[in-house]
Amino acid sequence: MRRFLYCKIKKEITMEERLDLKSLTMEEWKSVLLQWGEKSFRAEQIFSWLHGKRVKSVDEMTNISKSLREKMRTEGSMTELREADRLESELDGTCKFLFELEDSQVIESVLMKYHHGNSVCISSQVGCRMGCKFCASTLGGLVRNLKASEMLEQIYEIERITGENVSNVVVMGTGEPMDNYENLIKFIRILSAKEGKNISVRNITVSTCGVVEGMLRLAEENLPLTLALSLHAPNDEVRKQLLPVANKYKLEDVLAACDTYYEKTSRRITYEYSMVQGVNDSVECAKELAEKLRGKNCHVNLIPVNPIKERTFLKSRTEAIQNFKNILEKNRINVTIRREMGSDIDAACGQLRRSYTVKKEGQ
Ligand code: SAH
Repeated sequence: MRRFLYCKIKKEITMEERLDLKSLTMEEWKSVLLQWGEKSFRAEQIFSWLHGKRVKSVDEMTNISKSLREKMRTEGSMTELREADRLESELDGTCKFLFELEDSQVIESVLMKYHHGNSVCISSQVGCRMGCKFCASTLGGLVRNLKASEMLEQIYEIERITGENVSNVVVMGTGEPMDNYENLIKFIRILSAKEGKNISVRNITVSTCGVVEGMLRLAEENLPLTLALSLHAPNDEVRKQLLPVANKYKLEDVLAACDTYYEKTSRRITYEYSMVQGVNDSVECAKELAEKLRGKNCHVNLIPVNPIKERTFLKSRTEAIQNFKNILEKNRINVTIRREMGSDIDAACGQLRRSYTVKKEGQ
């Protein structure tokens, strides 16, 4: 008779299987702790070490038992970003950061200083698959989604490096937030938790190129976020020239999704309109836009397009922008021309990351 010898092989937990400690919401912490046979009130303590005091290692959590710390150390991981580059504008103090992730991918984030406080613009993905024609972030396509912890760390690192307090966050860097929906929501819940950074949800803006399902889903989350829509055109024909996503969703449906968002949240929508010479900056475009937005409680942000060298689009002339603004104002639409921040430091979406990766590939 043959005997089989069974031996128990203790499997090492790979990095991918580890629990990303900084990506867990308070609710998730509670259920993880219960699974581990721990008391759920520990969730608040651990969460505040991670997101309030922002410890570098589990060992600094002095009110947590040794055995629980050991469990977190062996089964979990703590995401860190490494600053790879920094550019500071001499014009307005805007600071652009290039961060390296643990898999050596790079992302960029921007700190902008305003009178009302500091605002950070974060990336939500490594690259982007939306293909907007004037955007540098999309040139290399989508590499991967960012984890909630990687979105949070952009803010935490900027605060740590500069000693500044961040009061506003805009998800307007590289990536389409609706394309990374679950992680976006976790990020917002963690960022606004009182045991963490405790940023008011009202001070967070999420910008989308108009992914209708995501916008409608967001309207149901009971989160008073500011939703910004990258409109860029008054009709589908012009919009398709700039945003491939316009082939998937009709402008009518995108605007209806904005109305639903407003009805559910009472939050005024921001419409972003990047002005491209000869494409979307005519008087006709302005009039058509005024018609489409008439009576809506909204705000239009006119942004002179920031030319990227891979494309031939040009910035609209100052008079065209001013004229466009006047037409909207005559129609009682709130409109501002966005101040160009950090124009001396490649501040357009994705340009710093692009120049870094192109340089690296060329080596
Ligand atoms: N994917 C999201 C968020 C990232 S882009 C979105 O589309 O809204 C943030 C904003 O910057 C968008 O309105 C986008 O259209 C705009 N943008 C990107 N590149 C630009 C450029 N070179 N000049 C002006 N605006 C640009």
